Amino acid sequence: MKNVIFIAPPAAGKGTISDYLVKNFNYVHLSTGDMLRSEVASGSLLGKEIDALISKGSLVSDELIIKLVESKLKNELFGKLFILDGFPRTLPQAEKLDEMLISMGVTNNVVIYLDVTLEEATKRAVGRIVCPKCSRSYNVYYKEASPLIEGICDDCGVALEKRSDDTEETFKKRYQTYLDSTSPIINYYKQKGILESINVMRTQNEVAKDILSVINDENVSVKRRKSD
Ligand code: ADP
Repeated sequence: MKNVIFIAPPAAGKGTISDYLVKNFNYVHLSTGDMLRSEVASGSLLGKEIDALISKGSLVSDELIIKLVESKLKNELFGKLFILDGFPRTLPQAEKLDEMLISMGVTNNVVIYLDVTLEEATKRAVGRIVCPKCSRSYNVYYKEASPLIEGICDDCGVALEKRSDDTEETFKKRYQTYLDSTSPIINYYKQKGILESINVMRTQNEVAKDILSVINDENVSVKRRKSD
């Protein structure tokens, strides 16, 4: 199977698909958003600076996020099957990621672009509630994404919370930041021939089927075809 790098507008569903891959396959999940939020939760000075940026819908600096991701990649993800959720988010981050992966000899990667309309992404953000313990996200607007008991995480039993950047107003800014800084990466990866686009405005089962078809490398699909 291939390492997965997600490129998507905010609240497209990167986290939900990542949870599915972690639960069903051998993936290790690195979410830069979760990483930054845990720094914020620690109450450190750096956390306070990060909080100010996240809360107004801006990105943290390339320098900081590259430093954090580089250390995780080299120390925790190397040799494992991994998902990068939230990185890269700018062209300099994408270029640096290429450099890191090449230097680590990691070549079996797929970049998956999650295709979602602004209207749908807004609904996913505004209705989102997350578990502060395991980061699993739910959505109050969708039955299939609602917790079994209202306001409580199915897995941890703790009270779900709303992210400070999931208000309609901040979401608009995050989406604009995505258009300005992140969307140019789509062409960057298209030109490299490793971009797969998946329409995520369908049921979770349908999306999962498409994801599986792009993460399976050729050997696996050949094996599958033979055993069909
Ligand atoms: P979502 O997918 O819902 O937009 P994330 O949890 O991935 O949210 O990210 C939350 C916020 O964390 C972003 O809006 C941004 O402020 C910051 N962030 C996450 N990843 C990066 C990154 N690679 N570069 C800069 N900032 C980032």
